[in-house]
Amino acid sequence: MRCITNMRSLLSLYLPPSTFLSKPSPFTRHTVSPLPFLSTRTTNLAMARCNGGPSNSIRSLSGGQLDAQDRSMDVMGCNGQIHIIVGPMFAGKTTELLRRVQSELSNGRNVAVVKSDKDNRYGLASIVTHDGVKMQCLALSELSSFREQFGTEAYDKLDVIGIDEAQFFEDLYDFCCNAADRDGKTVIVAGLDGDYMRKKFGSVLDIIPIADTVTKLTARCEMCGQRAFFTLRKTTETQTELIGGADKYMPVCRQHYVNGQIVVEATRIVLDVEQSATVHA
Ligand SMILES: [Zn+2]
Repeated sequence: MRCITNMRSLLSLYLPPSTFLSKPSPFTRHTVSPLPFLSTRTTNLAMARCNGGPSNSIRSLSGGQLDAQDRSMDVMGCNGQIHIIVGPMFAGKTTELLRRVQSELSNGRNVAVVKSDKDNRYGLASIVTHDGVKMQCLALSELSSFREQFGTEAYDKLDVIGIDEAQFFEDLYDFCCNAADRDGKTVIVAGLDGDYMRKKFGSVLDIIPIADTVTKLTARCEMCGQRAFFTLRKTTETQTELIGGADKYMPVCRQHYVNGQIVVEATRIVLDVEQSATVHA
């Protein structure tokens, strides 16, 4: 209770008293809506504080209680951001990642792009989109080695880090946390949210709670041209990680995902039966 009172007294420095509800009322469900307003004000305050805005007045009003918090926010780089781009294969995730990175670059920010070394279809030194756009990058097996591989001094000067094929990085959560929270980087992550079985793929979904924005892109269903949300594996292989392009995968709508899975499963059974018959012949 004392904690709540203290928190209210601190927040009341920046918010009008009407923001707080003294007790539940029939209107509670509706009056809870000031929360986004509270969030906006708090975010603006944090940003202003980073920019050297009202922090002096805050310190004087709070008797220095926020000094330590202010200092820690300065050290931790409160300007960091995390943006996630997900969707099925052929949805344009890499194209969108490169578009955003190029945009940051043209704004004078230092950028770097990293991808998994598991996908070497187009060579390890560059990222190439399905429609042929190309950009230099660093190919790694794990993100924890990025700082060392890129060079500590060069890393410190970086503003933006793009990560492609993020589903292949097991240490995605820790890297993003450190880069954004501690080092103040803008991290733009592109990857598959689901695998060919529509189950979560790697750690991409795990970073949603720490992200500023999440964008889910769609492709065109290869069967009917409607929006495609899923990736259908056309072959009968069953391992989760199977690198391939249009030879192995296609984007599909819900209906054609379900129908396609039935066809692929039936094919797999037929092939198994044929193989078994050959072995026993
Ligand atoms: Zn379809």
